[in-house]
Amino acid sequence: MLKRRSFLKRTTLLGSMLGGWPLFSTLARQGLQAPGHATVISTWNHGIPANARAWQILAAGGTPVDAAEGGVRVVESDPDNSSVGIGGRPDRDGRVTLDASIMAPDGNCGAVAALEHIENPISVARKVMEDTPHVMLVGDGALQFALEQGFTKKNLLTEASRQAWQQWLKNAEYKPVINIENHDTIGLLVQDADGHIAGACTTSGLAYKMHGRVGDSPIIGAGLFVDDEVGGATATGMGEAVIKVAGSHTVVELMRQGYEPCEACREAVKRITRKEPRYKELQVGFLALRKDGLTGGFAIHQGFNYALMTAADNNRMVNADSLL
Ligand code: ASP
Repeated sequence: MLKRRSFLKRTTLLGSMLGGWPLFSTLARQGLQAPGHATVISTWNHGIPANARAWQILAAGGTPVDAAEGGVRVVESDPDNSSVGIGGRPDRDGRVTLDASIMAPDGNCGAVAALEHIENPISVARKVMEDTPHVMLVGDGALQFALEQGFTKKNLLTEASRQAWQQWLKNAEYKPVINIENHDTIGLLVQDADGHIAGACTTSGLAYKMHGRVGDSPIIGAGLFVDDEVGGATATGMGEAVIKVAGSHTVVELMRQGYEPCEACREAVKRITRKEPRYKELQVGFLALRKDGLTGGFAIHQGFNYALMTAADNNRMVNADSLL
């Protein structure tokens, strides 16, 4: 395995010689890029630009935490994405409330829940991790902290999201949607060339949820878990079901017992289906990255896919297997 320094030296050199990321990925396709053992994996279609950004950060010498945060920020800041960050679907009162968590290779972690008006909740979660003695801040307290840290207050309800919400209000029927437009929460796991793993998970949560509802994404062990000795896991879909089985922690513990990532995700999905009588009406997908670089995903329903980026794989979508 290439040492981190030589991976970064070679990738950065190639990137700068050729003027930036697009040519750098062409090199990867031609097999000219230093392989290293770096891997980035993330949920849904929006994982492609998130992975590309995370990889670029690693190649420029960033840490796995820098890469995880930077990768998901791309999706948070995309106003056309209706399930994460700005443009996210609001709750039933028309308020966009965001949940996010981040976890570092040393086991440190941070999270925010029900945070309003801040475009990049993942960066606030990182500040909670690094600059406070706490793991999670919620609601007004999280907002107050973000503003103290210099984050800017913004209106996150885009015109498209406002119109969709007003349409929803006509019947106000609450019904979880499976595979919403093939994007949802973004959970991203990254392993650097030295094998160290970090993860990030960020979402606007279920569309038209009750005000104050918090899902799995900001809950360490549910929407995200990393143990640098074993691997990492992240979740998407119906947060209540994921929380009930401490989903991402379960996946990591199964990998510790020797399960391959895909099998570990499958077993966690099966735990949900054993406990949730109405599991056929909801989607949950897990994604896992093991310490040896092996990756996998599994969901209740078909249609869950994820973006995988390695030196060999460049950056491509993979369809996860499913129970149904
Ligand atoms: N897991 C998220 C939540 O329950 C949303 C989703 O992935 O659909 O808030």
